[in-house]
Amino acid sequence: MKTLIVANWKMNPSSLAEANRLFGLVEKGSKKIKKAEVVVCPPFPYLLSMKYQASSIKLGAQDCFWEEKGAFTGEVSPLMLKNLRCNYVIIGHSERRNYFGETDGVINKKIKSALQAKLSPIFCIGETWQERNKGKTRQVLKSQIEKGLSGIKENEVNGLILAYEPVWAIGNGKICSFKEAQVMGFYSREIIARLFSSLLAKKIPVLYGGSVNSKNARDYVREGGFDGLLVGGASLNDQEFIEILRSVVNA
Ligand code: PEP
Repeated sequence: MKTLIVANWKMNPSSLAEANRLFGLVEKGSKKIKKAEVVVCPPFPYLLSMKYQASSIKLGAQDCFWEEKGAFTGEVSPLMLKNLRCNYVIIGHSERRNYFGETDGVINKKIKSALQAKLSPIFCIGETWQERNKGKTRQVLKSQIEKGLSGIKENEVNGLILAYEPVWAIGNGKICSFKEAQVMGFYSREIIARLFSSLLAKKIPVLYGGSVNSKNARDYVREGGFDGLLVGGASLNDQEFIEILRSVVNA
């Protein structure tokens, strides 16, 4: 299986011209790196333009709604994303949970809908700093996974990807050591094994995300046992992002 490296551009860059430029540079730089599957998740308005440029790079969205169509002002459906040649969609990112009040129930509906549309949901889980300090990390992960995947059968989870992202390590340079992350990566697989089967738990890709850069990327994948990375801030710098790709595959 190829190492999966997902770029979450969040609400960046601020113009289509910049987005096209960044995408072109990432595409060029990643062409030779065959052992990694590179996924770029730009803001919705840029997806159409990226659709016509993407060759080696796969496309993903940063969110989706759970209905196919209808009177849901401002929303984007999984089917629309499929039409724009997206293969992936990030669901349950901590910024959506935090700023937009997304609950586990909402996330569950979105995951179901993405799976039905044959999009791979990148399902984000992770504890806050307070939860971690209260020793509640395992409890939080268990609850997020159980609620997020509630009502989904094993034969329906094809394409599901988990992303362990300690909220306190996102976007601020605070580092969760690969050893600490590894424990939670394994624990997440244990939950999947209990909910579904150990076969699925082994098969399901688990990514790490949280202030990943070209200096620490390799450790999460090579030492921490993660199948790939979800990269925020560092994915907006083409050179740094390509360095991350190189460090991970050449290790
Ligand atoms: C993210 O947005 O999922 C993320 C991990 O961001 P950063 O790499 O900037 O911490």
